[in-house]
Parts: sequence; C-alpha cells; structure tokens
Amino acid sequence: LLVKVACGLALFGFTLLGGPATVEAGQGSPRPSETLRAATAQATASPAALPVAVDLQVGGDSASTRIAFTVSSPIKPSVTVLEKPDRILLDLPEVNFQIPAESAKKVKGLLKSVRYGLVGPGRSRIVLELAQPGLPGKAINEPILAGAATSFALEIRKADREAFARAAESDRRDGLAAQTASVLPGEAAKVRGDKRPVIIVDPGHGGIDIGAVGLNDTIEKDVVLAFGRTLKAKLESSGQVRVVMTRDSDVFISLGERVKLARSEEAALFVSIHADTLQASPEVRGLTVYTNSDRASDAEAARLAESENRADALAGLEATEDGEEVNGILGDLMRRETRTYSHLFARTLVGQITAASKLNKNPQRSARFQVLRAPDVPSVLIELGYLSSKSDVELLRASEWREKAADSVVSAIQTFLAPRLAQQVGASAPAVP
Ligand SMILES: [Zn+2]
Repeated sequence: LLVKVACGLALFGFTLLGGPATVEAGQGSPRPSETLRAATAQATASPAALPVAVDLQVGGDSASTRIAFTVSSPIKPSVTVLEKPDRILLDLPEVNFQIPAESAKKVKGLLKSVRYGLVGPGRSRIVLELAQPGLPGKAINEPILAGAATSFALEIRKADREAFARAAESDRRDGLAAQTASVLPGEAAKVRGDKRPVIIVDPGHGGIDIGAVGLNDTIEKDVVLAFGRTLKAKLESSGQVRVVMTRDSDVFISLGERVKLARSEEAALFVSIHADTLQASPEVRGLTVYTNSDRASDAEAARLAESENRADALAGLEATEDGEEVNGILGDLMRRETRTYSHLFARTLVGQITAASKLNKNPQRSARFQVLRAPDVPSVLIELGYLSSKSDVELLRASEWREKAADSVVSAIQTFLAPRLAQQVGASAPAVP
C-alpha cells in the first residue's frame, strides 16, 4: 500500500511540477490531449490549487464497508442518500481525480460501484452505488504520510430497507438530493436569423459518467467526444447546416437536457454518439444505428437502451418521469411523423456507411432510448462499435477511421436533408422572369 500511495503522490507532485497537460485527468487511462485541454479549461480554479485524489481503498464486508480516498488535502463533501438505485452521493467543490482505474474496480462489501468526476463547472461528485442498503457514518479526514497527504474515509453500515428509505426521504425533503446537476453549454444559444437546419451532435456520457470501459482501458466518453468533434467540423465545412454539440468537453449533461436542447433549437436532426461493450461476446462488432420505439426490436437492443438510460442515475440524479409535454392527437401525429423521419435517416445512414465501416450483423435496431425521446426532432443513436471487440477498438481509436466514418455520416445527413436544402436554395434564388 505504501508503495502505491508513494507512487500516487509522486504523480501528484508531477502534476504540480509539470502542469496538467502532462498528466491524464480522470481514470488514469490514455486519452487524447484535446480532452485534457477541455477538462483543464473547465476547471474554475487553477488546477494546481485543486485537491488531487490519487487512490482509493475499500475494506470491510457486507455488514460494514469502509471506503478511503488518498487526497492531497482534506475534502468536506455534503453527503446524500438516494434510492432507486440505492446510492450515497458525496458532493464536493472540484477535485482533480487521478485514481488508477484498477483501484476503482476493487469494490466489495456494501459497494457495487464507485464513480467520480465533474457534474458541473467547479463541482465534483463521488457516487457510491450500493449492492444493498447501507447508511453512511461520519466522514473523516486524517493526515497520513507525516502530513503530506490526507486519508478521507467514510464508513457505511448495513441498514434495513425502511431505515434507508427514511434517510433518502429526509434528504429529499431537505432538498439535499441532487437535482439536474449540469448546465448546457453556452453554445446552445439560438443564432438569430440563421435559417440553416440545425444538427445536434450529441457525444454520449461525460464528466462523472464515463460510459462503457473497453479493452486497453478505452473509455466511451472519450471515444465518442473525439468522433463528435470530427463530425461537427466536417458538417460545418459544408456550410449548409448549423451544428450544435450537447457537449464539447468532458462534462456531464443529463439525458433530459440533451433532449431539451434539441427541442429548443428546433433541430432538424439529433445524432447521439455512443460505443457499446459486450464483455461476454468479444467477437460481436460493428456499427449499429438505433431509433426510439416503445417496443425493442430485439433483446440486445433492449439491454443496450436500459444500460444507456442508466446514465443519469449513475451520475447521482434522481429518477424523473420523462414528460413529453405534447399530448393528444396532435402529439401522436407529431411523434409518428418524427419516428418516420428517424427511421428514414437511420436507413440512409446504414446505406451510406457500408463502404466506410464494418456494420453490425443487424445494423438497424430500435428500443426505448431516453435520449431519443424528443417528440418533434428526428433522432438516432449511433453505436460506433464495440469496445469489447479488439478490431473495433483499434478502428475507433484511429483518426483515419474516424475521418472516413464521419464522412459517411455527413453524406447521409446531406441526403436526408436534400429536399429541405433544395427548398432553401430555391427560396433565396432570384426570381426567374
Ligand atoms: Zn453510451
């Protein structure tokens, strides 16, 4: 343990000396430098001034579990208990997490998973997902290594369902439970007078929600952001559309906010970008395009939607009903029309992408995806590939593949928008005598 801590602190020292650009932010895996820059740009304080968490240890059993973080200076979180799923949230001013991915995987006892990261500008959160109900004791900061660092520890004791529910209800009443945590990027502001169709590029996950973790510690939130940026640049270079990204940095955005953005922009198309993982079947690979439907096209699609829909819960948000706001016959008509267009785009995309990328055996599917629920914006979700497939991971990390795949998405979007774009050109052309 001492060696590990010393290593961690060496890393911490390195951070201070070398500056943030030399050390990876987050789960200790390789990631593109642009993400780093974005993460750094997001920091409200100078990164050197932030507390750095370099490691975590979990001890105990399913009666009492202790989680301890090794931190450069004491941290004082506000602690909240949340049900469905059972979680303990630790909300903090921004912390620079440099915890090795391996440490975070070694959960046991009452803990099912540990997650940490940004949930908004200058705000970090640790989410302890529980395997069974457990209540937090007092959080303690203790100096270690002759005062060079701090051990921040929290004891969790097994509790019965009623006691846990009471604690969650009382936190909720006190307004402690986390509401929508994130803010939309400033880019969301509508551009007046710009009549071009708006395309929403939605890189999945971000911040505390890292998404799927695949081979070679490939992290979904990084892969999809890199693809989203490439797609945005290519779309913009055509000049025909305006592109708005739901996120352009390593920040958490709730599913509801992504949908809200698409609606407020009156977008012509919403393209959500993800990468799946299927640990049990490493041979499964290829790109898949999903649309929304109440009934899933197959069991696999249902599993995926369920896992993608958990994003908000894992980031510590309260479960919310997704009110679609538009009801009645008009609402039904609107949804039906939107669904038709979503399908049309999905089919176009599957047709266009064949040349550039390996497609999944069953490349066009549907399920109940929360993020595709805008009643008036055609929406698709692209799973670029499987992070559990060696061949897919190689492709997804290669900029050459990214360029080619993004090109085919762009041409599918142009085909899809062709009628509308032609109309626009017609409208602005001088009248023929
Ligand atoms: Zn995803």
